[in-house]
Amino acid sequence: MTIGLPSYISATPQGIMELIKYSGLEITGRHCVVLGRSNIVGRPISILISAKTKLGNATVTICHSRTENLKAITRQADILIAAIGQPEFVTADMVKEGAIVIDVGIHRVKSDKTKSGYRLIGDVKFDTVASKCSYITPVPGGVGPMTIVALLKNTLLAAKKTIY
Ligand code: NAP
Repeated sequence: MTIGLPSYISATPQGIMELIKYSGLEITGRHCVVLGRSNIVGRPISILISAKTKLGNATVTICHSRTENLKAITRQADILIAAIGQPEFVTADMVKEGAIVIDVGIHRVKSDKTKSGYRLIGDVKFDTVASKCSYITPVPGGVGPMTIVALLKNTLLAAKKTIY
């Protein structure tokens, strides 16, 4: 995947690229800030979105727990991908007006408003960030289902003993 040869594309990053494709968003030349450098999300999405492909060509900055002046960097993002595993970490003051925000985080927190006693939230404080964005993915119902689709797709390709 890293050098663009046929491979099974990491599921969550594949789901994110599919979202971008479906939404018709223009990524070429824009600044994408990826929060997180994990092997399953942060690093592979930074590779896919910066690749020399029709859907890629973004300019990418990867941030992690040792990054200095994080807010100054996230505020430069045309596309902000949050995958840090910290509930509602990304707040409105960290986001540029009109940015595209993709929230990968999933956290189960207690709630007295749901039957189950729990609700799901992301790495982004959706309520206050959403009004600043041109696009934002919800949690639940955003990246999560796309990851499932990508996993099913990879499974089907593997069953057919093929890759793309
Ligand atoms: P992970 O392996 O824990 O990686 C988290 C990354 O965030 C690390 O690179 C870490 O930096 C960085 N980080 C942590 N705290 C930070 C901070 N305060 N400031 C800056 N960077 C910080 O997590 P992951 O597996 O990538 O998952 C991230 C989130 O996405 C989790 O909530 C997970 O549940 C969710 N997730 C969702 C899906 C989905 O389908 N929607 C799929 C996978 C994961 P260091 O490298 O320096 O430690």
